[in-house]
Amino acid sequence: MTLTIPFDNSYARLPARFYTRLNPMPVKTPQLIRFNHALAAEMGITPGTDEEIALAFSGNTPPDGADPLAQAYAGHQFGGFSPQLGDGRANLLGETVANGKRYDIQLKGSGPTPYSRMGDGRNWMGPVLREYVVSEAMHALGIPTTRALAAVATGERVYRENGGMPGAVLARVASSHIRVGTFQFFAARRDTEGLQALFDHTVERHYPGVETPTDLLDAVIARQAKLIAQWMSVGFIHGVMNTDNSTLSGETIDYGPCAFMDTYHPDTVYSSIDAHGRYAYSNQPNVIVWNMAQLATALVPLMPDQDAAIETFTKSVHAMPDQIHAEWMTLFRAKLGLATQDDGDEELITGLLRRMAENRADFTNTFRALPAGTARDQFLDPKAFDEWEPLWRKRLEAEDDPETRMRAANPAVIPRNHRVEQMIQAAVQGDFGPFERLNDVLANPYEDQPDAADLTRPPEPSEVVHQTFCG
Ligand code: AMP
Ligand code: MG
Ligand code: MG
Repeated sequence: MTLTIPFDNSYARLPARFYTRLNPMPVKTPQLIRFNHALAAEMGITPGTDEEIALAFSGNTPPDGADPLAQAYAGHQFGGFSPQLGDGRANLLGETVANGKRYDIQLKGSGPTPYSRMGDGRNWMGPVLREYVVSEAMHALGIPTTRALAAVATGERVYRENGGMPGAVLARVASSHIRVGTFQFFAARRDTEGLQALFDHTVERHYPGVETPTDLLDAVIARQAKLIAQWMSVGFIHGVMNTDNSTLSGETIDYGPCAFMDTYHPDTVYSSIDAHGRYAYSNQPNVIVWNMAQLATALVPLMPDQDAAIETFTKSVHAMPDQIHAEWMTLFRAKLGLATQDDGDEELITGLLRRMAENRADFTNTFRALPAGTARDQFLDPKAFDEWEPLWRKRLEAEDDPETRMRAANPAVIPRNHRVEQMIQAAVQGDFGPFERLNDVLANPYEDQPDAADLTRPPEPSEVVHQTFCG
């Protein structure tokens, strides 16, 4: 069996200024770490041997039909605008279409490009395995995300703050890699033709039926509102919500310094580069509104009457906080087992969250323990829960089968930071067992898996991860 990928490369057919065509830079000794056979099958890929897979997804032998390129984009990083970022360590091999769905196949860590600036274009194994595990876990949680198709060790060393580390390449799959920053790239150059071509491409790919920039903005806002509410509902902190890391598709992208919270606190930040907490857990709904305002700004040149457009777009952006809140309410209601609506629900939810923060309760385990009646054990002072519980029990009387609803809304297992770190430490020593196990267990996050009880446990004080890095 030979590896075959039915490529259909629509991005490569866009004007030349959208990208730089170039091949990935070959690596020394590509060795397959893991291949996502289920995802490959969805994409219409015939896998071939492990050697072929490793050669293809390290970038050493681009498969037949690939048209490799590095995409150009711009972006606001921590609020400051860079008119030119682009794929500095990534290469879009091309796209496949299967069952009416289009998929980008991108190699991350594939060597320098014209957009690399000071970077080496490479990844060490840590961020590759982290993204593999966390993005697949997000998918299993039901949250829109890029996926992991393959991880390949390069046999080369990559130098970072932690010294020389084994290198790896991730083959990542997305419905596209179109970012807010892609629109900003053309807007910043006053390249209205380019902007129009990008608009048409985006609409055709993600929003069939959308006709105007106003409709596109509203459609993206709706997807992003839901996405960020979903992050909040599982305690996910993206960590680097720059506009180049906000997609038009509404998929989560760029698993750099991301982390799931253990102990609940709204101000939680892990990223080593987020000194002021711009991307803290509870600030994510604010930041996404800001990012959508940047998208709106970039779309203005497409409008015939720009003053009127600014007014319309402003209304859309200003309406977004209420949309996020509505999505958040739906999801947090479900976490408490509620499907019906009551005026007191918000107070009930925030009342629990406040008590959790005051009592250092574990976010995931508290919600998961609600139906079992053991959530109080998660609180430093269980009385804080006991005061809240009767209000909730009373409210539950209006609900049909809330236990099932809670189990479907509250995962038993998430990729905890200390487990991800331990997995990386083991992999660097050549033991991929913990990596395989995390992937297997996290594929079924809403099931109780007695064999995986250790992965549901919060970190011991000595295991706590205080900071995460971009990679
Ligand atoms: P990120 O923070 O991952 O969104 O990356 C921001 C920008 O920096 C993107 O243009 C990346 O391609 C680029 N970049 C990050 N790491 C590297 C690297 N090791 N080599 C080259 N470019 C990089
Ligand atoms: Mg990025
Ligand atoms: Mg990154």
